[in-house]
Amino acid sequence: MSANQIDVLIIGGGPGGSSAATFLARAGKRVLVLEKEVFPRFHIGESLLPYNHAIFREMGVLPALQAAGFPRKLAAQFHLGNGSLGTRFVFKDGKFTREPEAIQVERAVFDHVLLKHARGCGADVREGWTVQRFESDATGVTVQALAPDGAAHSFRAAFLIDASGRGNVTGNQEGTRIVHPKWRKLALFGHFTDVELDPGEAVTDTHIVRLDNKWFWIIPLSPEKTSVGLVIDKDEFAQEKGSLEEIFRRWVDTSVLVKRRMRNAHLTGTMRTTADFSYYNRTLVSKRLVRVGDAAGFMDPIFSAGVFLAMWSGKIGAEAVIKALDAGNDGKRGFRKYEKRVRTGMMFYWKVVENYYTTPFMELFLQPRDHYDLPSAVIEVLAGHVEGHWALRWRLAYFFLLVKIQARFPLVPRISFAQPKTSAAKDTPHVTTV
Ligand code: FAD
Repeated sequence: MSANQIDVLIIGGGPGGSSAATFLARAGKRVLVLEKEVFPRFHIGESLLPYNHAIFREMGVLPALQAAGFPRKLAAQFHLGNGSLGTRFVFKDGKFTREPEAIQVERAVFDHVLLKHARGCGADVREGWTVQRFESDATGVTVQALAPDGAAHSFRAAFLIDASGRGNVTGNQEGTRIVHPKWRKLALFGHFTDVELDPGEAVTDTHIVRLDNKWFWIIPLSPEKTSVGLVIDKDEFAQEKGSLEEIFRRWVDTSVLVKRRMRNAHLTGTMRTTADFSYYNRTLVSKRLVRVGDAAGFMDPIFSAGVFLAMWSGKIGAEAVIKALDAGNDGKRGFRKYEKRVRTGMMFYWKVVENYYTTPFMELFLQPRDHYDLPSAVIEVLAGHVEGHWALRWRLAYFFLLVKIQARFPLVPRISFAQPKTSAAKDTPHVTTV
């Protein structure tokens, strides 16, 4: 592909880049994807949302994902670390939810399936290529990149989609990235064998276990392998001494619930960390440029929405670019609409995440009452219905009002994060299913 023969250059071949590339290639556009790594490569972000399935179907990639044999995820569970309260949200029981299940994925495999699919749809995918800079002008974008052998190359495209994830290539260059001032978080995680999971269909549930100011995830990836991670304030982590595994085990022991599940668990591979993942970009678009997925922004992994948001923004970003290409213009108006839509979706999750870290929210969330179908509205959010209809919107507004009231006048009993005095007390919690 020589310079100026490209309609769209995409930086990054993660879920956001693959989704954008697939939609563009299927619309007959000439797409070049430059991906820094050679796939398969490790990535964190393993629990998907049901509404991802709608995008898989539209991309035509569902059969390939089914063939890969990823475990089905039917529900998400949220618990207090002391085992005093737990709720299982079953997707198919949500009255508004059209997508009843999701999948749990090892990202090395999942991302590779998506990237191969984009290539199969006609995108020119080059791995081992690192994008360094871009310049846009009235007619297109010039992109500088390093080939696998280190040689510098320049590409010319009509449009650029930045799907570089937290690499945030264009946001860093344009100085638009803003790290959330309050959420200086760090995640410490690894893959384990012999984690104790629930019996029956709940065996593949995602478990989120909340302590006072930190939380664990437990995500079953296969019958043998489970992803377990901890999200903690960066400052608190900095006080800790020892190897990553020792630190992790110490924190595991502070929750009777996680301790029980991990009592026979063995680490496979290494523990990893990642930090400062809560940020956004002041603008999601620029001249002939659209940022999608984590390159647009990311909040916190609590609701497992990252891959869904990346693929959804990849899809609607691609649609905005297709319109501009077909109209032969610079896409400015369509890009503004894209920005509004994606920012609204992302801000919606930011609001839920910010609330999640407050106690009144947890009190209502973990003690759901079947009141105006509120549990169904919560399930719909957990399933990934990011652009909610009116029936969902007013219920969520009502739920947030109840959270405000709960802060002053308890509508449901107060919760405590304190660990039980005896270690055996609550390690098998009572779970409410909604
Ligand atoms: P990525 O998946 O990061 O892909 C970006 C790609 O761009 C990468 O392959 C990278 O190599 C490439 N790239 C970067 N720089 C360049 C460059 N200069 N040139 C060329 N290529 C480049 N999400 C979920 O849905 N479920 C979860 O359970 C979940 N858990 C998470 C846990 C943690 C601790 C964190 C931090 C995030 C989690 N996420 C989760 C979020 C999820 O990881 C991301 O939202 C998702 O991967 C975003 O996809 P993306 O395509 O935008 O970016």
